[in-house]
Amino acid sequence: QAPFIFFCRPGFESDCAAEVQAIATAHDLAGYANAQPETGYVRYYMFDQSSAEEFFGLLDLVDIIFARQWFWAKAELEDMPLDDRISPIIDICSELSSAKNVLVEHLDSGDGRELSKFCKKFSTPLTISLEKQNLIQEEGEFRLHVLFLANDHCLIGLSPLECSSPHKGGILRLKAPKDAPSRSTLKLDEGIQVLISRKQQKDAFRLGNTGVDLGAAPGGWTYQLVERGLQVSAIDNGPMDKKLMATEHVEHFKENAFTWLPKKPVNVLVCDMVEKPSLVANLMAEWLEGSHTQHAIFNLKLPMKKRFQEVADCIGLICERLEDADLDYFWQAKHLYHDREEVTVYFRLKTRVTPN
Ligand code: SAM
Repeated sequence: QAPFIFFCRPGFESDCAAEVQAIATAHDLAGYANAQPETGYVRYYMFDQSSAEEFFGLLDLVDIIFARQWFWAKAELEDMPLDDRISPIIDICSELSSAKNVLVEHLDSGDGRELSKFCKKFSTPLTISLEKQNLIQEEGEFRLHVLFLANDHCLIGLSPLECSSPHKGGILRLKAPKDAPSRSTLKLDEGIQVLISRKQQKDAFRLGNTGVDLGAAPGGWTYQLVERGLQVSAIDNGPMDKKLMATEHVEHFKENAFTWLPKKPVNVLVCDMVEKPSLVANLMAEWLEGSHTQHAIFNLKLPMKKRFQEVADCIGLICERLEDADLDYFWQAKHLYHDREEVTVYFRLKTRVTPN
């Protein structure tokens, strides 16, 4: 059977495999994963063709926390001639459904990153050749993936356009703003762009809206909220960045983030505290249950071994509490490129929260 390929952060292969397995099981599909540590990807094999087709039809990147990208590999080419790697790829592609575009990708492992320059250089001539052969067409429904594992070894496959990432390797590359108080500012920037739809971003970040940052110091996350027009309450005993405070868009409360609550509901809550995930999950549930915020974006730190199980339990806990409170909600979570031993989670209450 042709494997499904899932890209993940190196070191998280077993979490990604456990999650993919859980998705297959939830749909009564049987398969098995091959996950080698530190490779930055997982191969998942379905036992039969019809299960594989069904799996292909239901997989969506937004539902997979530990995967950054995926596709169904239709062929694996090894020992390719280095003086012509295009012809064998074209031969394979002529047997596949036509694609709208192509991504030449590599993994995020040490070996994978060494192929980055080559992949960049190879992308244009390959795209031109595919276009010439009409293998890439405007009306194509799929994304073609050519994943190089070595300079003479690649996997070729397809993903549905709307259900995979348009970015190579599923990595959204962001530039750290010069004046941000900390590099972790990129985590929230990526989290907002990946987890919140454009429409909801408009709603959340209307000029003059309010936000709360629990565990805010020195202010990398607060910075992102201020940049997006919010008036922010920053809760932390530690010092906040002076330049950020000088914007006058931030009020600093040196208080305990586990007990502090706003006088009026806010539009956006963010939280990046190094705490037990279940404590953070309960705190987020409390804010959402009480409708103290409409949007919540937070990190769950995962120093433990069974990270997928921990994340599933924490999200399950919040969902259960919101259901008990009869609240309609949306959630999505991702192990982002800028996340290390943590995942970023987004919850939104569908019922509009109105300030008093
Ligand atoms: N997001 C921040 C940034 O981008 O600059 C970094 C936050 S740092 C990882 C975690 C912060 O949480 C620390 O500054 C710590 O003082 C704060 N913190 C941890 N427990 C807290 C609590 N119970 N109340 C308030 N702040 C807390």
